[in-house]
Amino acid sequence: MPILSPHLLRNLLHLVYPNVCIACKSLLADDEDHLCRLCVGDFDRFMLPGESADAMMASLNEHFPSQTEVDDAVSLYRFHKDGLLQHAIHAFKYDGLPSVAVQLGEQLGKHLSAERPDARLDGIVPLPLHKLKFIERGYNQAEKLAQGVSRILGVPVLVDTAKRTRYTSSQTGFDLSGREKNISGAFHCPKPLTNQRLVLVDDVFTTGATLRVCAAALKAAGASHITIASLAVAGN
Ligand SMILES: [Zn+2]
Repeated sequence: MPILSPHLLRNLLHLVYPNVCIACKSLLADDEDHLCRLCVGDFDRFMLPGESADAMMASLNEHFPSQTEVDDAVSLYRFHKDGLLQHAIHAFKYDGLPSVAVQLGEQLGKHLSAERPDARLDGIVPLPLHKLKFIERGYNQAEKLAQGVSRILGVPVLVDTAKRTRYTSSQTGFDLSGREKNISGAFHCPKPLTNQRLVLVDDVFTTGATLRVCAAALKAAGASHITIASLAVAGN
């Protein structure tokens, strides 16, 4: 009986389950995972040092002039509707591919480490997901991103540090004051976080309203410094 080499087996499997890029559907090379190089290269990346922090902090301070909850911010890409990055985000939010989030989280971790090489960070907190969404999706995509960031920074993911206190409806469709009302008091932290310097992770930064409210809960529990880190920033 002929023996199938692992290489042949892999090629046969590819015939049945083609290993294609989740964004452009082209066949992947052996050393590519989920996304091809061309697509990743095409994502609109923040290239200049401090560029993403400036954009996010300016947006936060414009929408919430008296905010002191968020101290620093980092993001990797600009989000464009119907762009290739949206396909990748769709894959880990709706198509059950959490490993894409871990992979992109590693890129976010590398970016954070390059942007803030001397930062003392004690833990990485994923923005908690609605309980119903968690049940529906089976995982929290922010936690998967946080795992990727953690692999690069060597800083632990603090799961269940922040919890949703109640079900909030999706923020989509609310104006800013509606968003504020919808999420105010939506988080609490059951354990003290005295003097902790934390990274709060989410997939897409829009106005930062939800992240700011969660950062407030982390600070109320004693955290001293909050950096928000998102994979992408959406225009608003
Ligand atoms: Zn591609």
